[in-house]
Amino acid sequence: MSVWVILVAAGRGERLGLDRPKAFANLGDEPLLAEPLRRLEACPWIDAIVLVAPPGWEEPAILLAEEEGCGKVRACVTGGEERSDSVRAGLAETADDALVILVHDAARPLVTDDVVERVLAPLSEGWDGAVPGLPVGDTLKRVAADGRVEETVARDGLWAVQTPQAFAVDALRRAHAGDSDATDDAGLVEAAGGRIKVVEGDPRLLKVTTAADLDRIASWL
Ligand code: C5P
Repeated sequence: MSVWVILVAAGRGERLGLDRPKAFANLGDEPLLAEPLRRLEACPWIDAIVLVAPPGWEEPAILLAEEEGCGKVRACVTGGEERSDSVRAGLAETADDALVILVHDAARPLVTDDVVERVLAPLSEGWDGAVPGLPVGDTLKRVAADGRVEETVARDGLWAVQTPQAFAVDALRRAHAGDSDATDDAGLVEAAGGRIKVVEGDPRLLKVTTAADLDRIASWL
């Protein structure tokens, strides 16, 4: 079974307030992107990687992959305006004989072999896709722009979903056949009628949004 990963790293990361895209923010003394690249390269379940770079940053992304000895990187493509455009750009570079495609946010650097193994397992049981998630622990409220609480949302059965997300290749290609937008690929596969299973996620798969997230992840390394 040939397993490909689309590593999406083309976000601008405006909330970090840097002069570089988020994938090139410093994590310790390296660009953030080095960590997930190294981990996916070393992961025994993964055969090939497509790297999706921010516009204008393709060359530094390729150089970084070379420096890290990432022989699994088969292509580096330019990302699009929205995350789903970036995934579609990566999808176009996956091989026709790929059986499974994972989509992973470079902004979640601490991907582990264990979570990759957990999202792959349901695919051999006939699921169209599997995503890591954590049950929501906090009370949830819907809040208006002026801060007024509109309602308290029952949190029973609610999960916060992470990446890497794994898909049977046909299900992911069908879901991305249109130009619809979604913050997560599983949402597109669900909308196309696919069956998605949630497996145990990992709190350390925190997505970098702010400088404080970078500090927290650096302290875990
Ligand atoms: O913006 P957000 O933090 O939700 O992005 C999640 C992931 O998607 C990040 O790794 C980011 O680099 C990627 N992304 C992308 N292309 C975009 C927007 C986000 O590759 N246009």
